[in-house]
Amino acid sequence: NGLSGFGQRPATIREAFVKASSFLQSCDIGEAASNAELLLQHLLGVDRTGLFFRWSEPFPAGKEEAWDELLHRKAAGEPVQYITGEQEFYGLPFEVTPAVLIPRPETELLVEAVVRVGRGLWPAGAPLVADVGTGSGAIAVAAAAQCPSWQLLSSDISAAALAVARRNAARHGVAARIGFVEGDLLLPFIERQVALHAVVSNPPYIAADELPALQPEVRLYEPVTALVGGESGLEPYRRLAEQLPQLPAMPQLVGFEVGAGQAREVAAMLGRIADWDELTIIPDLAGIERHVLAIRKTA
Ligand code: GLN
Repeated sequence: NGLSGFGQRPATIREAFVKASSFLQSCDIGEAASNAELLLQHLLGVDRTGLFFRWSEPFPAGKEEAWDELLHRKAAGEPVQYITGEQEFYGLPFEVTPAVLIPRPETELLVEAVVRVGRGLWPAGAPLVADVGTGSGAIAVAAAAQCPSWQLLSSDISAAALAVARRNAARHGVAARIGFVEGDLLLPFIERQVALHAVVSNPPYIAADELPALQPEVRLYEPVTALVGGESGLEPYRRLAEQLPQLPAMPQLVGFEVGAGQAREVAAMLGRIADWDELTIIPDLAGIERHVLAIRKTA
């Protein structure tokens, strides 16, 4: 009988959707309807509009098994983004695999802030901006797409992540302006003594002992190296603050995403290593202090 109890093929796309939503709901999966819709789009290879137009069409013959498999993966708790291989970020579709963190909406605010401040600092120039721990490449690719004169360098300790980031850069036509380097945080740039204008990062920031408390969807599926930032969660920021002065010059802009309750401490770390004109903390849409921005107006 299987988990779903789907005996026969749903008659229409609509019926497939309705059955799938209630199946996922009965398995205690959150946002059942929206997950069912995304999986159906993936199965049929259409976007939201395409799905809407096919609503009354017969469910395609021969797709029953694939449909059943998609639903069972979701029912087991796998993030829908790893099933479909896709997450939208900053209005762009990004490929995601289990080698990378699924980009989060709050990170879009970091890109927005860095783009806004960067345009002010270098109105006509071509700044060199590093995205440290690029993962899927979300930050670098979105920034490059927004700012056609910017050059980006993406680093990651994971070769598998860099491969995903490269494909995302190519997909969005910015591969020629993003360099990819394998290595730990800023180390590849220190080794090559690259003069960076800006450094952006959304590093892993979960404390090791908080990992068991994360939702199973995150804990069991997303890469632990992208989540855990050492014992305290602050380790990556500590090391970044240590590494920044080893660059040939202190970048004029540093923008970090941080975990809840970490912003003040991270701002203080940055305050100790350079004289900034502005050291700002930006809240996310939930009101959590989420981003730390350090700005020096002159080179
Ligand atoms: N920079 C990537 C993102 O913001 C990956 C972050 C991470 O894996 N910690 O989505």
